[in-house]
Amino acid sequence: MKPTEKKNRIIGILALQGDFDAHRKMLEDRVGAQTSLVRTTEELAGVDALVLPGGESTTLIKLMERIGLDKVIRARAEAGMPVYGTCAGMILMAKEIDDRPDQPRLGLMNIHVARNAFGRQIDSFEADIPLSLQKKKETVPVRGVFIRAPYVTETAPDVEVLGRFQGKIVGVRQGNLLATAFHPELTDDARLHAYFARMVAESKERRRRS
Ligand code: GLN
Repeated sequence: MKPTEKKNRIIGILALQGDFDAHRKMLEDRVGAQTSLVRTTEELAGVDALVLPGGESTTLIKLMERIGLDKVIRARAEAGMPVYGTCAGMILMAKEIDDRPDQPRLGLMNIHVARNAFGRQIDSFEADIPLSLQKKKETVPVRGVFIRAPYVTETAPDVEVLGRFQGKIVGVRQGNLLATAFHPELTDDARLHAYFARMVAESKERRRRS
Protein backbone atom coordinates (compact mmCIF):
# COMPACT_ATOMS: atom_id res chain seq x y z
CA MET A 1 0.00 0.00 0.00
CA LYS A 2 1.29 3.44 -0.83
CA PRO A 3 1.88 5.90 2.02
CA THR A 4 -0.63 8.38 0.58
CA GLU A 5 -3.34 5.71 0.67
CA LYS A 6 -2.45 4.56 4.15
CA LYS A 7 -2.75 8.00 5.69
CA ASN A 8 -5.61 8.96 3.39
CA ARG A 9 -4.14 12.32 2.58
CA ILE A 10 -5.57 14.43 -0.20
CA ILE A 11 -3.31 16.38 -2.51
CA GLY A 12 -4.98 19.57 -3.72
CA ILE A 13 -4.19 20.98 -7.14
CA LEU A 14 -4.74 24.67 -7.70
CA ALA A 15 -7.14 24.76 -10.65
CA LEU A 16 -7.58 28.44 -11.44
CA GLN A 17 -5.50 28.41 -14.62
CA GLY A 18 -2.73 26.42 -16.27
CA ASP A 19 -1.97 22.73 -16.68
CA PHE A 20 -3.56 21.44 -13.46
CA ASP A 21 -5.18 18.44 -15.11
CA ALA A 22 -1.82 16.95 -16.10
CA HIS A 23 -0.81 17.01 -12.41
CA ARG A 24 -4.08 15.36 -11.41
CA LYS A 25 -3.56 12.54 -13.92
CA MET A 26 0.04 12.00 -12.86
CA LEU A 27 -0.82 11.87 -9.15
CA GLU A 28 -3.97 9.76 -9.51
CA ASP A 29 -3.03 7.38 -12.32
CA ARG A 30 0.71 6.98 -11.82
CA VAL A 31 1.33 7.57 -8.10
CA GLY A 32 -1.99 6.31 -6.73
CA ALA A 33 -2.55 9.49 -4.69
CA GLN A 34 -5.93 10.97 -3.88
CA THR A 35 -6.37 14.45 -5.34
CA SER A 36 -8.89 17.24 -5.32
CA LEU A 37 -9.03 20.39 -7.43
CA VAL A 38 -8.78 23.65 -5.46
CA ARG A 39 -10.56 26.77 -6.69
CA THR A 40 -11.75 28.31 -3.40
CA THR A 41 -10.58 28.79 0.18
CA GLU A 42 -13.18 26.20 1.26
CA GLU A 43 -11.71 23.65 -1.13
CA LEU A 44 -8.23 24.39 0.22
CA ALA A 45 -9.46 23.63 3.73
CA GLY A 46 -10.29 20.10 2.57
CA VAL A 47 -6.82 19.16 1.32
CA ASP A 48 -3.54 18.22 3.02
CA ALA A 49 -1.09 19.50 0.40
CA LEU A 50 -1.12 21.69 -2.68
CA VAL A 51 0.34 21.64 -6.19
CA LEU A 52 0.78 25.02 -7.90
CA PRO A 53 0.78 24.25 -11.63
CA GLY A 54 2.47 25.98 -14.52
CA GLY A 55 0.61 28.69 -16.33
CA GLU A 56 1.12 32.41 -16.14
CA SER A 57 2.34 33.56 -12.75
CA THR A 58 0.89 37.10 -13.02
CA THR A 59 -2.57 35.74 -13.91
CA LEU A 60 -2.44 33.04 -11.24
CA ILE A 61 -1.60 35.44 -8.42
CA LYS A 62 -4.30 37.89 -9.53
CA LEU A 63 -6.92 35.14 -9.46
CA MET A 64 -5.73 33.95 -6.05
CA GLU A 65 -5.75 37.44 -4.56
CA ARG A 66 -9.26 38.08 -5.81
CA ILE A 67 -10.65 35.30 -3.61
CA GLY A 68 -8.19 35.54 -0.72
CA LEU A 69 -6.57 32.21 -1.55
CA ASP A 70 -3.06 33.69 -1.43
CA LYS A 71 -3.33 34.51 2.29
CA VAL A 72 -4.66 31.10 3.24
CA ILE A 73 -2.03 29.27 1.18
CA ARG A 74 0.70 31.37 2.85
CA ALA A 75 -0.63 30.60 6.34
CA ARG A 76 -0.99 26.88 5.65
CA ALA A 77 2.44 26.62 4.03
CA GLU A 78 4.01 28.37 7.02
CA ALA A 79 2.28 25.87 9.31
CA GLY A 80 3.88 23.03 7.33
CA MET A 81 1.48 22.14 4.51
CA PRO A 82 3.50 20.55 1.67
CA VAL A 83 3.46 22.67 -1.49
CA TYR A 84 4.91 21.75 -4.88
CA GLY A 85 5.23 24.47 -7.54
CA THR A 86 6.15 23.83 -11.17
CA CYS A 87 7.33 26.64 -13.46
CA ALA A 88 4.88 29.52 -12.83
CA GLY A 89 4.24 27.77 -9.49
CA MET A 90 7.95 28.05 -8.68
CA ILE A 91 7.89 31.75 -9.55
CA LEU A 92 4.96 32.28 -7.18
CA MET A 93 6.78 30.44 -4.37
CA ALA A 94 9.93 32.58 -4.62
CA LYS A 95 10.66 35.35 -2.10
CA GLU A 96 12.20 37.46 -4.89
CA ILE A 97 11.61 37.73 -8.64
CA ASP A 98 14.77 39.31 -10.05
CA ASP A 99 13.43 40.93 -13.18
CA ARG A 100 10.02 41.84 -11.73
CA PRO A 101 10.62 42.81 -8.08
CA ASP A 102 7.14 44.30 -7.71
CA GLN A 103 5.23 41.32 -9.11
CA PRO A 104 2.87 39.98 -6.44
CA ARG A 105 3.71 36.44 -5.31
CA LEU A 106 3.24 34.00 -2.46
CA GLY A 107 6.90 34.34 -1.41
CA LEU A 108 7.09 31.02 0.44
CA MET A 109 10.64 29.89 -0.34
CA ASN A 110 13.99 31.53 0.35
CA ILE A 111 14.93 31.63 -3.30
CA HIS A 112 15.33 34.26 -6.01
CA VAL A 113 14.14 33.41 -9.51
CA ALA A 114 14.47 34.92 -12.97
CA ARG A 115 11.42 34.53 -15.22
CA ASN A 116 11.60 33.28 -18.82
CA ALA A 117 15.26 32.78 -18.12
CA PHE A 118 16.34 30.17 -20.66
CA GLY A 119 16.12 32.62 -23.55
CA ARG A 120 13.53 33.50 -26.17
CA GLN A 121 14.95 31.45 -28.99
CA ILE A 122 14.31 28.23 -27.07
CA ASP A 123 10.87 28.87 -25.64
CA SER A 124 10.25 25.22 -25.06
CA PHE A 125 12.41 22.11 -24.81
CA GLU A 126 12.60 18.75 -23.10
CA ALA A 127 15.60 17.40 -21.21
CA ASP A 128 16.87 14.89 -18.64
CA ILE A 129 17.73 16.71 -15.44
CA PRO A 130 19.97 15.01 -12.88
CA LEU A 131 18.12 15.33 -9.56
CA SER A 132 18.93 14.15 -6.02
CA LEU A 133 15.66 12.60 -4.93
CA GLN A 134 17.10 9.98 -2.63
CA LYS A 135 18.62 10.17 0.82
CA LYS A 136 21.97 9.07 -0.58
CA LYS A 137 23.04 12.00 -2.68
CA GLU A 138 23.20 10.18 -6.02
CA THR A 139 21.35 11.86 -8.85
CA VAL A 140 18.84 10.26 -11.19
CA PRO A 141 17.97 11.72 -14.60
CA VAL A 142 14.40 12.98 -14.46
CA ARG A 143 12.57 14.00 -17.61
CA GLY A 144 11.22 17.53 -17.70
CA VAL A 145 9.61 19.94 -20.15
CA PHE A 146 10.72 23.57 -20.00
CA ILE A 147 8.19 26.12 -21.28
CA ARG A 148 9.36 29.72 -20.96
CA ALA A 149 10.88 28.44 -17.78
CA PRO A 150 12.44 30.33 -14.90
CA TYR A 151 15.55 29.29 -12.99
CA VAL A 152 16.76 29.94 -9.48
CA THR A 153 19.44 32.63 -9.19
CA GLU A 154 19.96 32.55 -5.41
CA THR A 155 19.21 30.22 -2.52
CA ALA A 156 19.40 30.69 1.25
CA PRO A 157 21.33 28.07 3.26
CA ASP A 158 18.12 26.31 4.31
CA VAL A 159 17.29 25.53 0.67
CA GLU A 160 18.44 22.20 -0.74
CA VAL A 161 19.40 22.28 -4.41
CA LEU A 162 17.98 19.12 -5.99
CA GLY A 163 19.39 19.68 -9.45
CA ARG A 164 20.84 21.90 -12.12
CA PHE A 165 20.49 22.09 -15.87
CA GLN A 166 23.11 23.92 -17.96
CA GLY A 167 24.59 25.03 -14.63
CA LYS A 168 21.32 26.70 -13.54
CA ILE A 169 19.37 25.62 -10.47
CA VAL A 170 16.07 24.10 -11.61
CA GLY A 171 14.95 21.99 -8.63
CA VAL A 172 14.82 23.04 -4.94
CA ARG A 173 13.41 21.90 -1.64
CA GLN A 174 13.03 23.76 1.64
CA GLY A 175 11.41 21.50 4.24
CA ASN A 176 7.76 21.10 3.20
CA LEU A 177 8.24 23.15 0.03
CA LEU A 178 9.28 21.76 -3.36
CA ALA A 179 9.71 23.60 -6.65
CA THR A 180 10.91 22.78 -10.15
CA ALA A 181 11.45 25.18 -13.05
CA PHE A 182 10.22 22.52 -15.47
CA HIS A 183 7.08 20.42 -15.91
CA PRO A 184 7.47 16.74 -15.03
CA GLU A 185 3.68 16.36 -15.35
CA LEU A 186 3.98 16.70 -19.14
CA THR A 187 6.27 13.70 -19.40
CA ASP A 188 6.02 10.02 -18.65
CA ASP A 189 8.25 10.34 -15.62
CA ALA A 190 6.29 10.17 -12.35
CA ARG A 191 9.25 10.26 -9.96
CA LEU A 192 8.89 13.88 -8.85
CA HIS A 193 5.20 13.37 -8.14
CA ALA A 194 6.04 10.20 -6.21
CA TYR A 195 8.68 12.19 -4.30
CA PHE A 196 6.08 14.86 -3.45
CA ALA A 197 3.57 12.19 -2.38
CA ARG A 198 6.23 10.88 0.05
CA MET A 199 6.70 14.42 1.41
CA VAL A 200 2.93 14.58 1.91
CA ALA A 201 2.83 11.22 3.69
CA GLU A 202 5.63 12.35 6.01
CA SER A 203 4.29 15.86 6.63
CA LYS A 204 3.37 17.09 10.07
CA GLU A 205 1.35 20.19 9.41
CA ARG A 206 0.36 22.05 12.54
CA ARG A 207 -3.23 22.31 11.56
CA ARG A 208 -6.46 22.88 13.38
CA ARG A 209 -9.01 20.72 11.63
CA SER A 210 -12.38 22.34 11.38
N1 GLN B 1 6.73 32.23 -18.08
C1 GLN B 1 5.60 31.92 -17.24
C2 GLN B 1 5.49 32.91 -16.09
O1 GLN B 1 6.30 33.74 -15.95
C3 GLN B 1 5.73 30.51 -16.70
C4 GLN B 1 5.55 29.52 -17.80
C5 GLN B 1 5.07 28.17 -17.34
O2 GLN B 1 4.52 28.00 -16.26
N2 GLN B 1 5.24 27.21 -18.20
O3 GLN B 1 4.56 32.84 -15.34
